[in-house]
This record gives sequence, structure tokens and C-alpha cells, in this order.
Amino acid sequence: MPRRAISYGRQTIEEDDIKAVVAALRSDFLTQGPLVSEFEELIKAHTGAKYAVACSSGTAALHIAHLASGIGKGDKVITSPITFLASANAALYTGASPVFADIDPNTFNIDPAEIEKKIRYNSPVKAIVPVHFAGLPADMESVRVIAKKHGAVVIEDACHALGASWKDSRGAVHRVGSCSHSDMTVFSFHPVKAITTCEGGAVTTNDKRLYERLKRLRTHGVTKDEVEFELPSDGPWYYEMQEPGFNYRLPDVNAALGISQIKKLERFVSRRAEIASLYSAMLSKHQFVRMQAESEGRSSAWHLYSVRIPFEELGASKADWFSMMRSIGIHPQVHYIPVHLQPYYRRAFGYGPGDFPRAEAMYAEEVSLPIYPGLTDEEAGAVVAGLVSTLACASAARGAVRPRAAM
Ligand SMILES: *Cc1c(COP(=O)(O)O)cnc(C)c1O
Repeated sequence: MPRRAISYGRQTIEEDDIKAVVAALRSDFLTQGPLVSEFEELIKAHTGAKYAVACSSGTAALHIAHLASGIGKGDKVITSPITFLASANAALYTGASPVFADIDPNTFNIDPAEIEKKIRYNSPVKAIVPVHFAGLPADMESVRVIAKKHGAVVIEDACHALGASWKDSRGAVHRVGSCSHSDMTVFSFHPVKAITTCEGGAVTTNDKRLYERLKRLRTHGVTKDEVEFELPSDGPWYYEMQEPGFNYRLPDVNAALGISQIKKLERFVSRRAEIASLYSAMLSKHQFVRMQAESEGRSSAWHLYSVRIPFEELGASKADWFSMMRSIGIHPQVHYIPVHLQPYYRRAFGYGPGDFPRAEAMYAEEVSLPIYPGLTDEEAGAVVAGLVSTLACASAARGAVRPRAAM
């Protein structure tokens, strides 16, 4: 009997999530209201940050985080080429230019040594935006040191990493989102992420002034708080627009889902971690598969289970393999096409192949295997069995010797 296709990621919606959303629909508030504040309180409690601003998407959250940092026309912002487009596009929206720093080929995260190199040729750099790839925290201690030295703001793109944590060199544990080594941290609540609000995102910070500005930018650049007024108030209806802002609000209906979901975060992340260990145990028998290096003390949120397979060495076409996997009902994904290779980035900034060799080598090899809380152990087993058999076929199809390790 054909089973449902196993996709690389999937939301987990339970009966109580549905009840929470229905109750919100019957309430007086549909757009931003008391549930958004309640959701923000829970984000603060989970991350340990002083302030949280919920937004309509992770992309919106990245955009206002950039604006609140004062990033604008002519500025340069460093991020990883191995990320979702939005990490780099946020700089574009403000008129700034994204500058990429190549990855560490083992952790798949931005390499601090590469950031240093890029700053040397692009000084001044206004901000560094590390991405916690697949949920594995980037080297925040090094990023912080570099940023301090060069007067750059740090915005963590933690869209993969709600629920992750890491240990510093003194042994203290930091939750991603606490902003202990950054100015702001951005999350996404897209359905494939750790928890979902359908569309949604948030910024956390410990800086009151950034917090006030983020709130203004989320809603048209308007404030109703009289301590912030530039002009004398005309009366109780008075409000002021102090800069061009947006409508980036999260609806209360979506916040209701977020509240219900964030209470399950620990359960969701531990199930993801279980699946990851299962994959790692099964794949350790197939030595041609390279897993993301687990760094000492860094605890991943396992948004992705990302591996590298040397297709070329195995004489297999990645595209053929990918299609074969889909034909047996397993839908892996590729994270990511390096951002600098996108037509727009080539055109606008003159980037091209060869500019970030480690990112490009990763792109040739990377595949993300299905991982989400609802994936069963049996399905994970089927994914690995499918991977091994299709890989053997894909390399045989090329007329190559079947990979010995895959048989
Ligand atoms: C998902 C994601 C975003 C954007 O989040 P949306 O909520 O989809 O706008 C940004 N950066 C990274 C790394 C992501 O994975």
C-alpha cells in the first residue's frame, strides 16, 4: 500500500493546537492583541532574553532587526553563503550590501577566520549575521570578539535554532535567543521550523532602545507611548509616526497557535534529537556519508539532518539520486543553493562560481534527510535503506562501479 510521501520537514499540529486557534477566532481580537503579548512572554521565558517582538514572518523580523541596528544605504553586512535567501536579502531591503564569508566545511556554519578576512577588505562592516545552520549554534564567542573589535552589530539568524544551546569556554550554558553574544536574535515559525504559527517570526534582544524601535518598525513607525513623543500631544487619540515602518504584525489567531506550540518545544526538539541519533547510528555503517560535526558543548535544535555525500567520487549524479528518492516516496531537500550563485546576486554584485569554494563544494554534496517530530523510527529506517539502494542505482546508472560501502 503506498504510504504518504516522507518530506524533509513537516509541522506537528495536535488537537489542543486546533482548539487554541478556534478559541482565538471567537475572541475580540484577530490581529495583534493580548495573545501576541502572551506569546512574547513565552519566547522571553524560553530564550532568557529581556525583550521579544513577534512579527508576521522570520523575514520581516530580520528586516526590522537590520533597520533597528541603523543599517542602511551603502553599509556592508556579513553573512553565510549557505543559508536561506532571507538572511542576505534583509540587508538588501535596507540598501546595504551583503558580503559573504565562507563556511567551515565540517560544521557547515560560517567560519570566523573567513569573517576576519572579509572585514579586512570590506571595512567598515556594519553587522555580522551568523546563521545557526540546521540548528547547530555557530561559534558565537569568536563572532562576538570579531564584532567588538570592528564595532559591528551581531544579529543571529536563529531561524533553525529555537531550542538550541551551547557552552562557552568557561562552561556557562547559553540558550540561543538569549542574546548573550549578540545584539538581536531572529526566529521563524514557518511550518518546517521547530514550532509554527503558520507564518510568523520574532526578534529577541536585551537592549531596551532596540526593543522600542523594533516595536515601532513593526507597526508603521508609529508610537502611542507619550514618553517617546517628539511633539506635544494633541489629546488622548494622539500618535506619532517617527520613521517609515511596516505592517509586520503577527495576528492573535497565529499567536494562539504559537502559545500552544511553544509549550511543546522541548518535546519536539528531543524527538528531533532522537531521530538524529538514530540516523547517525544507521549511517555510521556507510562511511561515505559525512555528518555535520557535532562541536563540544553545542546542542543542536536539529531543524535539519544535513549530510554530505561525495556523489562525484561515488560516480553518481546527485540529480538522478534525488529523483530516485522521490520516486520511492522519500523527499529529501538540498540546503542550500549558495546565495551568491543566484542570478540576482551575480548581476548585482558580480559574484560567480569559484567565489566561495567551500560553500560550493558543500552544495555539490549536501542533502537533508527527513526530520520532524512526527517521523517514526520505521520511516527513518526506510529513509536510510532507500538512500543506500538508490545511491547504488544512481552510480550504476552512470556506469560506475557500485560504491562498495553502499552495498
Ligand atoms: C526560514 C528561514 C528564514 C525566513 O523565515 P520566514 O519565516 O520563512 O520568513 C530566514 N533565515 C533562515 C535561515 C531560515 O531558515
